[in-house]
Amino acid sequence: METREQLLASGRAAKDAGATILRAGAYKPRTSPYSFSGHGPSALTLLREVADELQMPFVTEVMDTADLDLVAEHADAVQVGARNMHNFALLRAVGGCGKPVVLKRGLSATIEELLLAAEYILGSGNEQVILCERGIRTFETATRNTLDLNAVPYIKRKSHLPVLVDPSHGTGVRDLVTPMALAAAACGADGIMVEVHENPPAALSDGAQSLYPDQFAEMVQALRPVAQAVGRSL
Ligand code: PEP
Ligand code: MN
Repeated sequence: METREQLLASGRAAKDAGATILRAGAYKPRTSPYSFSGHGPSALTLLREVADELQMPFVTEVMDTADLDLVAEHADAVQVGARNMHNFALLRAVGGCGKPVVLKRGLSATIEELLLAAEYILGSGNEQVILCERGIRTFETATRNTLDLNAVPYIKRKSHLPVLVDPSHGTGVRDLVTPMALAAAACGADGIMVEVHENPPAALSDGAQSLYPDQFAEMVQALRPVAQAVGRSL
C-alpha cells in the first residue's frame, strides 16, 4: 500500500481482470532496514476503505503481536509472512485473532515445518488456516527463490488445508510469474497470490516481480483452461 490512488488503481485493474481478494502491505518485512517498510496504521484505514470501495475482502501481513488487534480489526484475513513462520508467539496469537490466516512458508523451512507451524495456529483455536508456498532458498541464484511446487501435491495428500502459490516471490522475475502460476494451477493449487502494480518501475517494493495490469489479465485468461483441465474453475 503506497498511496490510496495507487492501491485503488492497481486493485481495480486486478479485480476487473478476475482477482477476488486484495492483498497489500501496511507492515512490510524488508531485508534492508533502509527499504520502504509500509505506512503502518494509516495504511490499514486506507486499505479498509479501498477494499470496501472495490467490494473485495483484503488480507495484510502482521509482523508483531503488538499490532495484531489493530490489523485483525481492519483486515478480513491476516498474513504471517515467510520471515515469521517460526515466530511461535505470533502463530499462537493469530490462532486467537478470529480471522482467517494466510501462513507463508519460511525461506528455509521444510514442508513438515510449515505444517507444524500451521498446527500452532490450529491448536490455538483457529481452524481457518491457508498455507502459501512462496519459494525457498536453494543453491540456485538465477531466480530470487526456488518455487517448490512439489509442496502443493505433497501437502494436499497430508493435510486438508488449502494451499496458495505465490509465483511473484517464488521467482522474483516478472516474466516467470505467469508460467509458474499456470504450473501451480496444474499441480492443484487452490489459489494464486500475485503482485500487480500499475507502474512496476516506480513501485516502492518488489517492482521487478510485479505484473503490469494487462499482464495480470492475460495470466487470468491463461489460467482458465489449465484450471478446467484439472477439474477446477476460476
Ligand atoms: C509478502 O507476501 O508481502 C511477502 C513479504 O512475502 P514473503 O513473506 O513470502 O517474503
Ligand atoms: Mn512483496
